Amino acid sequence: MRATASTKTKYCLYCSGKGYFQLVLGGSETCPCCGGSGKQK
Ligand SMILES: [Zn+2]
Repeated sequence: MRATASTKTKYCLYCSGKGYFQLVLGGSETCPCCGGSGKQK
């Protein structure tokens, strides 16, 4: 199994690098883990 994504950039696992969550009821919420950047600290 090969990793296609760069190992240098680690995306936030909490929001999968999106920086926000897609709410079921509609709209979106900023990820509290990365603060909306989508990148892992
Ligand atoms: Zn996040």
